[in-house]
Amino acid sequence: MLLSHRVRLDATPAQCDYFARAAGTARRVWNWALAEWQRQSAAGMRPDAMALKKQFNAIKYAHPDWLDSEGRPWLRTVHRDAHAQPFANLKKAWSRYFAARKAGQPGYPPRFKKKGRCRDSFYVANDKFRVEGKSAVLPKVGRVALAEALRFPGKIMGASVSRQADHWFLAIQVEVPDEIAQRPRTGGVVVGVDLGVSAAATLSTGEKVAAPRPLRAALRRLRIRARRQSRKMQAAQAAAGISGSIPKGTRLPNSANQVKGARRLARLHARIARVRADFTNKLTTRLCRENQAVAIEDLHVKGMLANARLARSIADVGFHEIRRQLRYKARRYDTVIVLADRWYPSSKLCSACGQKNGTLTLAERVWTCICGIRHDRDVNAAINLQRLATGALAAHTALPVASPAATPGTVAGMVPAAGGEVTPVRYEHGQQDGSGQDGNGVHICARF
Ligand SMILES: [Zn+2]
Repeated sequence: MLLSHRVRLDATPAQCDYFARAAGTARRVWNWALAEWQRQSAAGMRPDAMALKKQFNAIKYAHPDWLDSEGRPWLRTVHRDAHAQPFANLKKAWSRYFAARKAGQPGYPPRFKKKGRCRDSFYVANDKFRVEGKSAVLPKVGRVALAEALRFPGKIMGASVSRQADHWFLAIQVEVPDEIAQRPRTGGVVVGVDLGVSAAATLSTGEKVAAPRPLRAALRRLRIRARRQSRKMQAAQAAAGISGSIPKGTRLPNSANQVKGARRLARLHARIARVRADFTNKLTTRLCRENQAVAIEDLHVKGMLANARLARSIADVGFHEIRRQLRYKARRYDTVIVLADRWYPSSKLCSACGQKNGTLTLAERVWTCICGIRHDRDVNAAINLQRLATGALAAHTALPVASPAATPGTVAGMVPAAGGEVTPVRYEHGQQDGSGQDGNGVHICARF
């Protein structure tokens, strides 16, 4: 099982300087390759990443674009993995795009990377570096201190160095033997999880998991720093004599305070990301470890429909991360992840009688069904998700292969066919039209 460990590098200023140059090289080579790809395909040719790499190798030490002010090829000062990998990445990006298009999904073609706007990173092949306890030996920079030792035993497959605010990180991919990667599960039930804002996660058992308090405090601080930074930008704009929108390509003069402010803001963003990552990691590990199956909603449309407040959009980002983590951790614990279709009205169905409350608004945290049962909105939604998953799993194991007795409505004793796979469950009826025709039908479209 391929696992990745991301470790902070405690690098010297000279090493940080090299990392920045290597990441800049990777970005520039990517942009060159993408531009050339676009030019060739516009000219009716069929571009190929490996041919592009050959083409680049022929010019990289000679073309004026790739020479420094003294006419020396600056690419020689950066290890070749940093400028070879972008071609492989570009190939992957295009195949992903074409595969998505073929499958009828919205695909996004690779885009140019902009300094300061993109992730600064570069690749190091597994035969070019080694890890020794709490240090790594990287090409061109030598020994770099690691904040902690590599967590996983196994064959190292490669690594990438990337920057987050003031720090550089080394993400090491390790092929861990399955018997070490597999973890025992401590429970065997199906749990429904409703993700939200008031409580970060509500479980079908009624438990509410709150988001960490430091996150809320940091978000307040974020608003303050972002506002200060925006005032500095406005001041710079006014000083440059520009009113209204800034023309494309304009460079505003940078003041020292502006740079300092931007750093501060970036550090805070990084801190928020860390606090959130810590929380989602603990939550997803717990969910996978304690349950046989976890049911969550697909894309958080509810949140997107609500007014786009800061907390909302952040909750949405967290959702994708939660799903990503559940997916790979589920493989380690052999847990099944069930995704409810985005049209499944988990909040609006009464978990006691199945009636749909079409008039339920987002503001109503507690509501009473016509059958007389009073619901906590989030707990009710989580119970509905749990029901949907239980039914879907029972139906699914009964379908393709003869399976051990799976009583409808329960998954006790059932062996999930594919641990770790995401099982989308489609809610077939009604596109939120409130026609009252919605049933509780579930349908599994595919396993992927
Ligand atoms: Zn009811």
